Amino acid sequence: MTSLADLPIRDDLRGLTPYGAPQKSVRIALNVNENTHPIPEAVAQSIVEALAAAILQVNRYPDREFVILRDSLANYLGHGLTRDNVWAANGSNEVLQQILQAFGGPGRTVLGFPPTYSMHSIIASGTGTRWVEGTRDDEYRISPETAVRWVTETSPDVIFFCSPNNPTGTPLSLETIAAAYDATDGMVVVDEAYAEFAQDGLPTALSLLAGRERLIVSRTMSKAFAFAGARVGYMASHPSVTDAMRLVRLPYHLSALTQAAAVAALAHTPEMLAMVDDIRTQRDRLLVELPKLGYTVHDSASNFVLFGGVSDPHALFERLLEDDIIIRDLSIEGHLRVTAGTEAETTAFLDALGRIAR
Ligand SMILES: *Cc1c(COP(=O)(O)O)cnc(C)c1O
Repeated sequence: MTSLADLPIRDDLRGLTPYGAPQKSVRIALNVNENTHPIPEAVAQSIVEALAAAILQVNRYPDREFVILRDSLANYLGHGLTRDNVWAANGSNEVLQQILQAFGGPGRTVLGFPPTYSMHSIIASGTGTRWVEGTRDDEYRISPETAVRWVTETSPDVIFFCSPNNPTGTPLSLETIAAAYDATDGMVVVDEAYAEFAQDGLPTALSLLAGRERLIVSRTMSKAFAFAGARVGYMASHPSVTDAMRLVRLPYHLSALTQAAAVAALAHTPEMLAMVDDIRTQRDRLLVELPKLGYTVHDSASNFVLFGGVSDPHALFERLLEDDIIIRDLSIEGHLRVTAGTEAETTAFLDALGRIAR
């Protein structure tokens, strides 16, 4: 029997484990920060019409430059960005992979600040980039001084920030991003997958792009746009950075169907984002209700909450699963993470938790 270990796989991949958030069929799935609201019927209809038109031309390769999609994304982002500042791929994970293909790779390093999005280090290993870890301050924050200290000590080729940070929910200040940028000659990436869920007035790194040609802000349609299954992620940067992406992307990487669906969804941005306010309300409710049940919470600017004071995270995870509710165990001592769902889902989670002895 051949197993992975018997194959002539790259030495640096030996012994690694793949991304593995459990995909279970349960009644209430609050484990991978999806937007649990289905997309509105009218928008779905309009996407289907766009797909129907696109399918008639799938005998041809799609627009390799996905110009209409880049226009739509630039228009959505604002901040004076145009199509030349925008790049997209099959999920922001692919965007991040292309960034490391272009700016990381063998002999190069990427600095991250755990606990953070597990895919950041997995994409590093996939691209042969060495993952280097900095540390955070109290409450998972990163001060400008802490960031600069780690940048100076490790001289990374790429820095991965995540704001708001997954799995902690912590937003990152623009001062920290700007300070890290000034302290490095490398690329600075800010993964803003959850930006739309931040409290009003919280700034985005998009406002730092002007004059910073080594800064990249990555976004996704997976979360706020309820488009996780369609796989559309994107980034904003100086136009020369998108030229780097063209060197590593596979030709025609965004299918005509993906482009059509995304453009149609973006044409309905207000309806697509209508649920974001509801989700923020449920997030705020979790922040208020979890402490009443005796748990501690970490401030969150995203659509999930990391809560502590869990005596046995694995046992609580399994106990909730018995109630057909799945949340996330990220192996952070005494902690679990829960996604803010619909009002009914959030209620079911809180009720179940209330019934379980701490
Ligand atoms: C969910 C998530 C993404 C989204 O990845 P896609 O490939 O766009 O679905 C990216 N970054 C972080 C931090 C996330 O939590």
